[in-house]
Amino acid sequence: MKQFNINNLIRENIKMLKPYSSARDEYKELTENMVFLDANENPFQNGVNRYPDPQQHKVKAQLSKLKNVAPENILLGNGSDEVLDLIFRAFCEPNKDTIITLPPTYGMYYVLANINAVANIRVELNSNFEPQVDQILKSATSQSKLLFLCSPNNPTANSFSAKNIEKLVSSFKGIVVIDEAYIDFSNNESWISRLADFPNLIVTQTLSKAYGMAGIRLGVCYASKEIISILNRVKPPYNVNELTQLKALERLLKPEDVSEEINRIITQRDWLISELKKNELVKIVYASDANFILVKVDEASKRYSQLIEKGIVVRNRTSQPLCENCLRFTVGTQQENLKLIKALKDLAGC
Ligand SMILES: *Cc1c(COP(=O)(O)O)cnc(C)c1O
Repeated sequence: MKQFNINNLIRENIKMLKPYSSARDEYKELTENMVFLDANENPFQNGVNRYPDPQQHKVKAQLSKLKNVAPENILLGNGSDEVLDLIFRAFCEPNKDTIITLPPTYGMYYVLANINAVANIRVELNSNFEPQVDQILKSATSQSKLLFLCSPNNPTANSFSAKNIEKLVSSFKGIVVIDEAYIDFSNNESWISRLADFPNLIVTQTLSKAYGMAGIRLGVCYASKEIISILNRVKPPYNVNELTQLKALERLLKPEDVSEEINRIITQRDWLISELKKNELVKIVYASDANFILVKVDEASKRYSQLIEKGIVVRNRTSQPLCENCLRFTVGTQQENLKLIKALKDLAGC
């Protein structure tokens, strides 16, 4: 194992930072008969008149049980987007440090790099949509703080090989962020089971996709206690609101409902793949480990507009590297998927 010291990666100002502390943090054990006159809240009960739990203890306890990860290894955010932004702000010095991304991939990494004034080194995936490990490691410098691996990857829908990921996590000198937004649609094991092996690993997940809760905005970050405590210093104290915590907990207490929906989506995905392969407009249907399918068609922009005219909105990815003439289809309900297949059949017929 290489020498790893997280202190060498944190921004100087964050090392010095004292987080905002609310009085409520200090008295949480005594909540039963306490009178709270500390936070200038309205005292009349309506379910949301109090500030939410800044550490989301109940949600984390349930996640901890489901994922077999201790609560001190978990941080929650207002969507993964907030979690990713916190990671930039904790580790990347603006106008100095860099990140590495592997296009084609999730657009938020570029947006966050721009917002945080952090240069982005792009190393394209190879033609099998796998990371080019040697090239990635060669292009890293001592300023390269973060490497983003999205697996299963958006928009290509494949999971990266475990061998490539392991090589990158064990050789890259900065922090490797594995974005597992789509992990629940894959048969591969999550990298959260390897957190203890890699002190430079952050795994992010979300309730937006498989858990069916994009509207509540809840992102999850799993990492070493050291990394989590750094991110806790940077996060706004009440970043996950009370309604989100209640809704998330309700859902997490019924994991069998979530599994059932995932199974239905996977069944529909496999049906869509077999139907798409029969269509003449379709040149390649890429394998999918996610709840969407990347498809190369004859003329993506034309087909995209024609689908819009038929009332179906898909994602045109043709301008992305390696994605020329590609459309991305999210797996919908059976009825929605039938409508898509019928529309594509009609377009192929004329
Ligand atoms: C959809 C998606 C997310 C989810 O982001 P949230 O902010 O949690 O909704 C994260 N990463 C990738 C790659 C995604 O496609």
